Amino acid sequence: MPSKPDLAEIVATVGRDMQQHLGGGKVADYIPALARVDARRFGLAVITCDGEAHETGDAWMPFSIQSISKVFTLTLALERHGEDLWKRVGREPSGSRFNSIVQLEHERGVPRNPFINAGAIVVTDALLAGRPPAEGIAEIRDFMRMLSGVDTIDVDPEVAKSEAATGFRNYSLANFMRGFDNMTSVEETLQTYFQQCSLRITCRQLARAGLFLANGGTDPISGAYVTTPERARRIAAVMMTCGHYDASGEFAFHVGLPGKSGVGGGILAIVPGRAAIAVWSPGLDEAGTSYVGARALEQLVKLAGWSVF
Ligand code: GLN
Repeated sequence: MPSKPDLAEIVATVGRDMQQHLGGGKVADYIPALARVDARRFGLAVITCDGEAHETGDAWMPFSIQSISKVFTLTLALERHGEDLWKRVGREPSGSRFNSIVQLEHERGVPRNPFINAGAIVVTDALLAGRPPAEGIAEIRDFMRMLSGVDTIDVDPEVAKSEAATGFRNYSLANFMRGFDNMTSVEETLQTYFQQCSLRITCRQLARAGLFLANGGTDPISGAYVTTPERARRIAAVMMTCGHYDASGEFAFHVGLPGKSGVGGGILAIVPGRAAIAVWSPGLDEAGTSYVGARALEQLVKLAGWSVF
């Protein structure tokens, strides 16, 4: 393993090598605003704990954060509730699709982990803690702005509206959990959840926002406290085991880093002690993870010697 990989060279190589795969996978089409994104887009940004930053392709272009937002709401909810949060949501891989309802009945309304939809909805309910959705989403949005250092990050209102109009499965999950007393306010929580999924962010901003997870919960560049070292380690552990739904094992096998995917085609990956990586390409594999994005990460991690295994 090279002690100090030549990141500029590696990022450029990955950018070049991915050209042959562009357009692979299937763009999410459950809402028009996602369906019309060009499948051939590809961006990659890396930032290290000592502030070295490299990018290639469309790393400057905003995309829909979708389920990657679940990492940040989990961080906020753990800060608010501490260990009590784990009474309402587990931390085992589900082996099921992101929006599956099947396990919830057997497990009495306690979702397997905070990254499947049911778990993320519980986390958002806990974060909201009875406040109106406008307050919840402002907290999440401001957190993303603070972490990335970019104060224009915002919700895409068209995406949020479509998420709400088509969110029947998410309503089912939330109501089902309400029936098990694991949900306080279905409507307010889902309004917040749909908006957090609709935040627009670039690879450059996302890598920067996730960097605290590579550095024991403190932003290595600004020095700002975000979460405790123990929580940062545990959030990364859940990303490794549950970050890609029923394909989390595949991701660990091929990439070997804690990561979180979203159906907008973004993936955030953490290199503990070293760096954060954000990649975006809209075509998805069967499990809803970016097809080109996962390939790019696999190659980058191999060249940099960055797998945790
Ligand atoms: N907004 C999507 C949903 O809740 C997010 C899913 C995802 O990115 N996997 O269905």
